Amino acid sequence: MEKIMDFRSDTVTKPTEEMRRVIASAEVGDDIYEDDPSSNALSAYAAELTGKEAAIYVCSGTMGNLLAFLTAGKHGESLLAGKRSHVWCAEVGGFSALGGLCPYPLDDDEGIPKAEDIEPASRADGNIHHPDTTILALENTHNYTGGIATSPERFAPVAREGKRLGFHVHLDGARIFNAAVYYKADVKAFTKEVDSVQFCLSKGLGAPLGSMLCGTHDFIERAKKWRKRVGGGQRQVGIAAAAGLYALKNNIPRLADDHANALLLAELLGKGGVPVEKVPNMTNMVFFPMPEGSMSDEAFERKCLERGLLTHMIGPRRARLVTHLDVTREDCERAAEIITGVLRA
Ligand SMILES: *Cc1c(COP(=O)(O)O)cnc(C)c1O
Repeated sequence: MEKIMDFRSDTVTKPTEEMRRVIASAEVGDDIYEDDPSSNALSAYAAELTGKEAAIYVCSGTMGNLLAFLTAGKHGESLLAGKRSHVWCAEVGGFSALGGLCPYPLDDDEGIPKAEDIEPASRADGNIHHPDTTILALENTHNYTGGIATSPERFAPVAREGKRLGFHVHLDGARIFNAAVYYKADVKAFTKEVDSVQFCLSKGLGAPLGSMLCGTHDFIERAKKWRKRVGGGQRQVGIAAAAGLYALKNNIPRLADDHANALLLAELLGKGGVPVEKVPNMTNMVFFPMPEGSMSDEAFERKCLERGLLTHMIGPRRARLVTHLDVTREDCERAAEIITGVLRA
């Protein structure tokens, strides 16, 4: 059986032998009692890396973002988020359903909203009709616009505008290390500008599960209570946290390989006539619209799979390919061949 190349997402990576050994020998304890040495070590390391006072391990990126919103906002308040942001488009409306927060949209077509759009979009004006705005949510890299990495120079003024207006500024940094590696910057160049940050261990970093939420001591203590309330308190979680710590210590620099592979893939697809979306500061994702008059989305996915390639239709007539730890340069060449072949047929 030939290997299936899985380009659906960077979430599909499987733990390496080495990571499995780390998991097998992880020291564990009851994390609700804060007795789990592996979880504690991961939290301390994540806080240090991001320059925050504290951090907690959470089940998923969605939970990390949700806990940030539940902790920073109250029912009946409002939150500003990009209209194409993951927190708005792909987290089942958690901030509204569970947090009672009303969202107002910001244009984030370029991956980050413009600083000058923030105040006009907000409802922090004392008007009796308006739900007070208390949170600004940013995303870097930005998934749905094509994996755009926003530079520290562009990121800082936007975050600072949120702070100037008195908002809690949260960074959905599911792939913030991709942005840091892209700009050869310390991740603190981004995280120092925000009040809280969530990042995923389970994506390009290659851990099987989990995310970190980082912020001040006080914020993280309150988030811990929300984590318990939504059922996210776990026991011998060090089994998973050890993999997360291993990922953070070993897999950050290699994200550059994923970016180079995505560039190659985009180039080869372009040469083969596939209308690849051109995005500035591209990281580990390649998007393209299905060419006009081509087969159905389902037929495309099926034909690719028949040839050993898993792809993801992120929306109707829009395909996404993501590079990661488990796809090689050769896989990218092969994937481009398969896709151009399928679309040409
Ligand atoms: C994947 C992702 C999340 C959520 O992470 P899960 O672990 O899948 O819940 C949040 N934000 C962005 C930008 C993501 O890509």
